This record gives sequence, structure tokens and C-alpha cells, in this order.
Amino acid sequence: MSKESSQGQKRLKELGLNEKSAWERLDAREKERVFAFCEGYKDFLTRAKTEREAIEAALELAGRRGFKSLDGIKGPEPGTKFYLEWRGKVALLGVWGQAPLEKGLHLVGAHVDAPRLDLKPQPLYEEAGLAMFKTHYYGGIKKYQWTALPLALHGVVILHDGRKINIKIGEDPGDPVLAISDLLPHLAKDQMKKPLEEAFSGDDLNLVIGNLPYADEEVKEKVKLAILDQLHRQYGLVEEDFISAELELVPAGPARDLGLDRSMIGAYGQDDRVCAYTALQAILELERPERTALVLLVDKEEIGSTGNTGAQSRFLALAVTELAGRAGSADILSVSRVLASSRAISADVTAALDPTYEGVYDKRNVALLGRGVVLSKYSGSRGKYEANDASAEFMGYLRRLFNAAGVIWQTGELGKVDAGGGGTIAKYLAYFGLDVADCGPALLSMHAPLEIASKVDVYQAYRAYSAFLKA
Ligand code: MN
Ligand code: MN
Repeated sequence: MSKESSQGQKRLKELGLNEKSAWERLDAREKERVFAFCEGYKDFLTRAKTEREAIEAALELAGRRGFKSLDGIKGPEPGTKFYLEWRGKVALLGVWGQAPLEKGLHLVGAHVDAPRLDLKPQPLYEEAGLAMFKTHYYGGIKKYQWTALPLALHGVVILHDGRKINIKIGEDPGDPVLAISDLLPHLAKDQMKKPLEEAFSGDDLNLVIGNLPYADEEVKEKVKLAILDQLHRQYGLVEEDFISAELELVPAGPARDLGLDRSMIGAYGQDDRVCAYTALQAILELERPERTALVLLVDKEEIGSTGNTGAQSRFLALAVTELAGRAGSADILSVSRVLASSRAISADVTAALDPTYEGVYDKRNVALLGRGVVLSKYSGSRGKYEANDASAEFMGYLRRLFNAAGVIWQTGELGKVDAGGGGTIAKYLAYFGLDVADCGPALLSMHAPLEIASKVDVYQAYRAYSAFLKA
């Protein structure tokens, strides 16, 4: 039964925001594409659970699509696909544009690290007949979420003789998992009265890893020795090797469809591998863009973009200097000009309205799950502190670009003005003088062991980055 729209309805459609679900704005074929795209995304999430694994997976996919190391590339040939890798934790993928470099680059930057638990440098001990590992959490976590949950151990160890070994335990269905014990409710009377922040201390996040004693009456810590003995037989590892290791605990198991209708994805590490994967797919398919297009995947965002693999390091400047050198001039003025005339998207997630905790959001300015990718002018906290705060001009540019390409997008602030806040790599990209804004899907349960994204938003992120890299 169709009815003529009233004058007011027509006027509202002309003047008001489109607040329809992205799902309702897609036809059946486009919906199929959303679901198909997210199969690849789930595979990536399942495979890439650490920053190193994400970079390895990204470079492997790029290699298969004809991307070559920049080292072997001499001149600026439009359409040339290249990559640069940095210490196994950063990657830059690029496609050389038709316009000269000084017209500026189009860069999408995402991070590949995620909140987790790292093993301490001296993790192994024995207590109460158990072998245990001590951990130090990485990034912003709610500690209670990481107890009594199957965890997998991923990472690298540099052995005493300098050899590097990879460790991954807990992902194959036949593998054992590790877990942090939690206090039984029967004895948690005092714990339950404490505020959440105090109920669990960082030093309570201890992993249960073994219970079998070494068969020798003369040894005091038999369970610890049995674990050391096993690690030595399996990997050649001795206790001192933990000091030169990066071993990370992540939730065990694959990324899954979430919801009875399979409309969402429930998985660890979607902040920010959802943006890493969608940006990666966008550049893998890119042919002869107007401006030189780059996708930067960085580490260490979750602890302030610090270190030599974080967005505050000089890696991007070095990479652009390499490009400028190949285009003719790598002097500081040329490189600074290329960077300053560039445009960037800081591709990171934001919060979706959680109907159970409505109080912390401004309902009129929060993103909804399933309403498309989120374009945000600023992040930061309490008075935009530490925010990039994109210009009206650049927001106008991106808005027109997305609308022309038919990208379904929305805007959204992280939460209520005084409720808290957060940052992204946007401000570190802005340091070069370029224009940058934040854009990525909204999540529920951000930073939890299982984060929730809507498949339609994942796909719209890919479409947004694709439109931007082509422009
Ligand atoms: Mn993030
Ligand atoms: Mn984060």
C-alpha cells in the first residue's frame, strides 16, 4: 500500500539527515557482497592476532597481488605497486599515482596492535603445585574480562644463540589453552564489594600453565622444572630466553559470525584490524590512482603510538623521503611539501551506542551499529583535549567524496563530553601539516576479548577507503 508523501515528509527528506539503517539502503546483491567480503575479514582476524601476524598476513596478501618491495623500484611509474616493511610490525603499501608527488599523497593509516596481556620478562614461577606465568597488560583493558577465558600464546622468542622462534599455542582445536584463574563467588564476598578498578590488580592476572611435577625428589620446584624441560625439548628454550621474547596472550579461537541473523562479527582485535583489513583490501584492488595512494599499518597505537614502530616514529617521513628520492628530489623542502599537501584518513574504530549503557553516550551524537562507516571530526577527551579536530574544509571534502561514491556513512562522537574519551593516530599524522580526519566502523564492547562489529559497517569502511584512495 503506497501513499503519497505529505509536503512535510518531502521537506524533511530534503533537509534532514538520512537516519536509515545501512542494511535498508542496500539491495539484495549488495547485501550478498557485504557477507562475502566479511568471510575474508574473518579469516584475516583469525590469522592475524598480533601486530606481527597482521603485518605478515598483509604483506603476503599484497605479494600475491603484485606488490613489490620498494627497494627494487627505481622510478615513479604510475600504477606501480610497492610496499615497505619496518621491523616486522609496520607496513606501508602504495600505488604510484598519475599526478606528481608534490600534489600530495592520499594516505589511510590504521593500527594493527590490540589490547592484550604480555608475558613479563621473568614470567615463570611455581606456587601451590601449579606452574604459572606472570603477565603485564598492554593497552586499555577491563581486567576482569580476561579471567576464566581460554587464551592462546602467540609471539617470538630470540633464543640464547640468537635464533628466532615463533610460538603459537592454543589456536588449533587440538591445542591446549591457557587461562587466568578467578576467585570463586563463594569466597569473593570482599572482592565483590570493591569498585571494579580495585577488585583486580594487574598483578592478579596470572596464568595457570602446568600441574605435572618433574620426576626427581631432589628438586624443589618440580612443576616449574617440568615446564622448563618441556619448553626446552620443544623449542630449545631456557629461562633467560623469556627476557628476549615478545609473547602475547590473546583470546583463543576463530572470529565468528554473531547474531541469529549472522549480521555481525564477534572477534578479538577488531580495534583496529577492521580498518587495517578494509584499507588493505581497498589498496590491493587499486589501479592507477590519481594521487599516490598509501596504506600505513602501524603498531603501538594502544599505548600512545610510542616506540620505533608507533605512529610517532619517523617511519612515515623516511618512507616518503624514499618516494620523493625516486621522483627526483629527496631534500627536506620537497619531502615536507609532499607531506604537507597530502590528505589522510586516520582509520580507526569508534564506539557504537550500547543500548544497555545509554547513559554514557550523547544519543544525538553517537554512532549506531549498522548505519555505515563513521566519519568523525575529532576524538580526544573532555574539551577535545589531545584531539586532531579536522577542519570544516576537509570534512566537507570527505563528505562530498563519500556521497558521490555512494558510501553509506554516519557521524558520531565517542561518548558524552565529560564521560571520558580516547585518541587515534590522527594527531601524529597531522604533525606533518596534512589534512586528516578519523573514519572507521563503530564497535560494541571495544577493547573486550570479543568485540562486535556490524558486517554492513565493515563493508562501508572498505568502500570509504577505496573511494578516498582512488580520488
Ligand atoms: Mn583503535
Ligand atoms: Mn583501541
